[in-house]
Amino acid sequence: MKKITRRMFAGFSLIGLTLSFSAFAKEVRIGVSLPTQRDIGWVRYKQGLEEAAKKSGAQLFVQVADQNAAVQASQVENLISQKIDVLILAPQDAAASASLVNAAHKAGVKVMSLDRLALNSNLDMYVSFNNVKIGELQGQYLAKHVPKGNYVVLSGAPTDNNSKLLKDGAMIHLKPLIQSGEVKVVTDQPITDWLPSAAQKIMENSLTANKNNIQGVLAPNDNTAGAVVQALAAQKLAGKVIVTGQDAELTAAQRIVAGTQTMTVFKDQKKLAAEAIKVAIQMAENKPVEANAKTNNGKVDVPSVLLEPVVVDKSNIEKEFIESGFFKREDVYKYT
Ligand code: BGC
Repeated sequence: MKKITRRMFAGFSLIGLTLSFSAFAKEVRIGVSLPTQRDIGWVRYKQGLEEAAKKSGAQLFVQVADQNAAVQASQVENLISQKIDVLILAPQDAAASASLVNAAHKAGVKVMSLDRLALNSNLDMYVSFNNVKIGELQGQYLAKHVPKGNYVVLSGAPTDNNSKLLKDGAMIHLKPLIQSGEVKVVTDQPITDWLPSAAQKIMENSLTANKNNIQGVLAPNDNTAGAVVQALAAQKLAGKVIVTGQDAELTAAQRIVAGTQTMTVFKDQKKLAAEAIKVAIQMAENKPVEANAKTNNGKVDVPSVLLEPVVVDKSNIEKEFIESGFFKREDVYKYT
């Protein structure tokens, strides 16, 4: 009898402990809406968010819209219905995403934009890489290596606010060369939905229209750079034209050592994802968040955490990708 009582007491106190603990530490519920998994960056974000949430004990609900704004809208509705505290949103369509932010706010859900900014809304937080800086790095690279010649200027999807930021950044360095007449932009076009097939078509047409007389290509990311390189290769020009990129795709690293793509911009998406989860938990718990910038989204100045990107080309690929352990040497040199 004594024994039973003791056990019962232990059981009750355990329940008590659990109850009082859970009363203080409510599990944070975070919804994530991503636009795509087609570019490696978004795959790394998804993995990074999942790993960081697991470590922090937050519950994560992830949806991927596969480049369809209507699908993203219904997925966000679904996430909100799952009683999330915070929504991490990377919009497929920056302008249309204002209604998603509003819907979340109506349900008492705070919203953070990840990588891509949601425009014209009372967005609570923005966590990203500095996209103007990425564009600057691409433009600076071209200006340094091709200070004279014919350029093809490609920009990302017009629905993605990053596309404008990237181009604005690149133009800081290209405009003086264009104005002085040293550089002639023979083609200047956006790439619908960042589709490599669209980039390849534009590049093929430009090569034909200019009788292959092109010296530099501003390609906004690695997937579109790969498509540009294919179009150049068909004219035996791969390696003879400077081509930029961004994202640190393995295929881009392979092209860099082969000399067909000139540079990429490395963004450590897993590091940013960990930051996003940390900030999302602070938002959910109404704790102060440390921002290092403010970004105007057309309606408000959004407190922002912006990380800096790094240029990688042949000169530092060893240090940045191989010595760091980011890629295996045999993978990078697989085709060379
Ligand atoms: C991201 C890039 C990505 C592109 C296409 C942009 O918003 O910043 O990293 O390559 O979308 O998915």
